[in-house]
Amino acid sequence: MKVDLSAFSAPCSCGRTHPISLKECRIARGALNDLPEVIDNLGKFERIGMICDDNTWAAAAHRVPGLVALFSQAKLDPAHLHANERAVAAAKAQLNPDCDLLIAVGAGTVHDITRFIAHEWGVPFVSVPTAPSVDGFVSTIAAMTWGGCKKSFPSTPPVAVVADSDVLAVSPQRLIAAGVGDLLGKYTALLDWKVTNLLNGEYICDHVVKMEEDAVDEVRACLPEIAAGDADAIERLMYGLILSGLAMQGVGNSRPASGSEHHMSHLWEMQILNGELDAYHGEQVAVGTVLLCDYYRKLLNIDDPRAHLSGYTGIDEEMLCRRFPGCSDGILEENRPDPLSAIDVNVLCDKFDEVKAMVAKLPSAEEVIDYMKTCGGVYSLAQIGVDPALLPDTLELAPYVRARLTLLRIMKLLKV
Ligand SMILES: [Zn+2]
Ligand SMILES: [Zn+2]
Repeated sequence: MKVDLSAFSAPCSCGRTHPISLKECRIARGALNDLPEVIDNLGKFERIGMICDDNTWAAAAHRVPGLVALFSQAKLDPAHLHANERAVAAAKAQLNPDCDLLIAVGAGTVHDITRFIAHEWGVPFVSVPTAPSVDGFVSTIAAMTWGGCKKSFPSTPPVAVVADSDVLAVSPQRLIAAGVGDLLGKYTALLDWKVTNLLNGEYICDHVVKMEEDAVDEVRACLPEIAAGDADAIERLMYGLILSGLAMQGVGNSRPASGSEHHMSHLWEMQILNGELDAYHGEQVAVGTVLLCDYYRKLLNIDDPRAHLSGYTGIDEEMLCRRFPGCSDGILEENRPDPLSAIDVNVLCDKFDEVKAMVAKLPSAEEVIDYMKTCGGVYSLAQIGVDPALLPDTLELAPYVRARLTLLRIMKLLKV
């Protein structure tokens, strides 16, 4: 499948342009064989370095030295591999620092490590995904755990993506289902964006929204084939994930692809309610989406919002410090000023029927569960290792994790 990158360079009906840095994107069976040609098209590189791990070496990276003369390579130990300072140091120790191009061969973690180093060294990188597990392959930020804290670092997006569907199709089924989960999260992410735009006029681009919706619809239509490991269907999943990543690049932030369901995932990753999770990003996002499709629907039972006002009076900073021990500085920063101050309660009440109409278009929690079951993925708190009794805490605290306004945060204005 070819991603039409020219569509991004034209001025958009939203009044902005959506600049992207990706120069080439090939998603096809056997695409790995195109790697030399793709690199040639990018320019003249003499000192190419590759980053992979033992698993992705076996899946695809062992073929790269036969295709491209490697200057150096870093093969990381996949056991306990996280995007953190230790993995970055381990990769740099194996790479020659004079590299003029890096190739990431792996899933999300290898990409975060590579984009971080590419940024530090000021060199471009080529993405070779080995599993359709996340929509962040073309991301402009590296999500790292630094000194034990979650941090987002500005970093280098890839100049090219070479995704071989034959490689993706034999990737671990759990990673494939996680990719579906990350994509299904767009249901609630897009709703959060649309509701906020409706209530306070935040910028939105209908074209980008449509692009994300098309990506989700396309993947939803071929879930049984994805579950069966059909290379063409998994190619469509990868295409959807790349489109979603490009939507974020084009808008300049993750608004089109990340809302309350991602805030829940970030909250669990902070480990203030729960212990360390053995769950992929997309698995957590899938569970968050299921919970929100259920919770948001509670609004449909409210006829007169004025009779349901909560009397919200603002952020309780003392509560935030108490509930977010060890990271309260960062949390206070996200909540000053109170993001909810951008919402006028009267506007919420006046436009409540429009909000309800948007919520009514969400799939039900049962439908999302069904989608995840079809592709062999997870859909419940217990399956990702979070005690189901933590649901109320999750709903209460997730909005505070980021300054981004979501319907979950707006629902604090109402008694539901
Ligand atoms: Zn636009
Ligand atoms: Zn995501």
